[in-house]
Amino acid sequence: MSESLSERRMVENEVVFRQYNESIGQGFDEIRQLARETDQEHLIPKDDTPLYFYCECSDENCAKRLKIKPSRYTAIHKNRYHFVIVNGHEVANIERIVRKLPGYSIVEKNIEPPETVSSLQPTDIDNS
Ligand SMILES: [Zn+2]
Repeated sequence: MSESLSERRMVENEVVFRQYNESIGQGFDEIRQLARETDQEHLIPKDDTPLYFYCECSDENCAKRLKIKPSRYTAIHKNRYHFVIVNGHEVANIERIVRKLPGYSIVEKNIEPPETVSSLQPTDIDNS
């Protein structure tokens, strides 16, 4: 089975969003750690307050956000084929819905996602 360039590109977009989201989660962990060190942990909600993460769909212009608890987000991404997207943003060619929840879906890629993507690569190809 060969995969087209555009499908590869779509999956890369999702990895970029995911890396961005993981940096949000890390920021949150740092805040929590800092609060613990300065004895202000009581100021941070202990109940795993949901954060707004970017939709990880294949549309690079999608700026929708979904509200997920950090612990849930981390658990979903233990599987690197799993991404979270706003309901209806799935693309049948590259992913299938694993679980549909109120507000978002967990999707599984059927294309091997790249380990990391340093940045979106501009191309000279005219798609018009
Ligand atoms: Zn989206």
